[in-house]
Parts: sequence; C-alpha cells; structure tokens
Amino acid sequence: MKELYRSDNGRCIIAVGDITNIACDAIVNAANSSLLGGGGVDGAIHSAGGPAILAECRALRNSSLPNGLPPGKAVATTAGRLPARRVIHTVGPIWQGGAYGEDETLASCYRECLALAMIEQLKSIAFPAISTGIYGFPKERAAKIAWNTVQDYLASTPEAASIIVWFVFFSEIDAHIFLEANGKIKL
Ligand code: ADP
Repeated sequence: MKELYRSDNGRCIIAVGDITNIACDAIVNAANSSLLGGGGVDGAIHSAGGPAILAECRALRNSSLPNGLPPGKAVATTAGRLPARRVIHTVGPIWQGGAYGEDETLASCYRECLALAMIEQLKSIAFPAISTGIYGFPKERAAKIAWNTVQDYLASTPEAASIIVWFVFFSEIDAHIFLEANGKIKL
C-alpha cells in the first residue's frame, strides 16, 4: 500500500494498492445488488477472501435480503481469508447521466458503510472508488462526493472520533484524480 496523502488529523488516508491486501478492520466491497459476486473489486475480494464470503452472502439472500441489497445500502460479512476482519458490501449507483439520484445514492453508500462500522465498533475502514469502474460514475464527481460525505460523517458523529478511513485506488492515475478533485497535495 503506497500512501499518497494523510489528513492533518491523521484520520483520512489516500493510497494506491490492492484493497484485498490491507489489514483494516473492514474493507468495503463495491458489490452489485445480487451480492453473488461480479467483476472488478468484487471479483478480487471474493477470489482473495475465499468461499466463506460468498457463503455468507448467499445466506443473507436466503434470509434478510431475498431481493438483494438495494443501491445505497450496506451489509457486513466475514472477510474469509483476507487480512481485514470484515467485508462491508455496498451497492453503488449505476451512472445514468446524473439526473437519477446517482450523487445521493453514492453518498449514501459511504454513510451506510461508516454507520455499520460504528455499529460493529470498527476502528479502520478502507473504501475503493465505489461506482467508478464498471458502473461508470465520473471519477472526479465521485471523488468529491466520497471525500465530502466522509468528512461530514466524521464531523457529525462523535462515536467516529477514532476511526481511520482509507481511500484505496487500484491505479495511481485514479488516486491523482481523487487528490486533485479534492485539492489535496500529494505527500
Ligand atoms: P463498480 O461496479 O462499483 O463501478 P468496480 O469494481 O468496477 O466497481 O470499480 C470500482 C473501483 O475499484 C475502480 O476504480 C477499480 O479500478 C477499483 N478496483 C478494482 N480492483 C481493485 C482492487 N483489488 N483494489 C482496489 N481497487 C480496485
């Protein structure tokens, strides 16, 4: 994991690497509503974490989530063989031009994941760039929403006082788009 930026209070880190390698309390999966696996970061998480994650996702589909996980919501499972303790699955919006509530759904993903982390009393969480791959959300626009939503959540949630939030990018180019969109200077 290569750190590019750390906020002054040390609580938000922007890094480049493979999210499956990070030993955070939770990593976030940019899943699809089926929760039964997909490409991109979803495929990477299931393949590195092993079958226990999919088994728990299937159990959720057979119990509390028969119709799948709606966009903007989050649910936690085991992390299987991953170094993280938990995987928080969230479903980002599919980009449809911006007039279909995509911004609000994306913000909801970040808030819901953080809220679950609070419920589980987790101290660190790593986010991928939700919706900016296969789901086609413009990267710069997603970057601002991701950063601002997390900052608002941390500022307004006293229980979140000690959580560390990682923003992890698979590509250095994507990390730089994120830094630039949010006016952050690389370390
Ligand atoms: P979505 O369907 O929500 O768009 P994707 O998985 O297609 O999700 O892409 C989301 C982001 O995750 C993309 O920026 C992609 O480059 C990134 N990504 C893919 N694999 C990994 C990984 N192993 N670690 C971190 N980020 C990843």
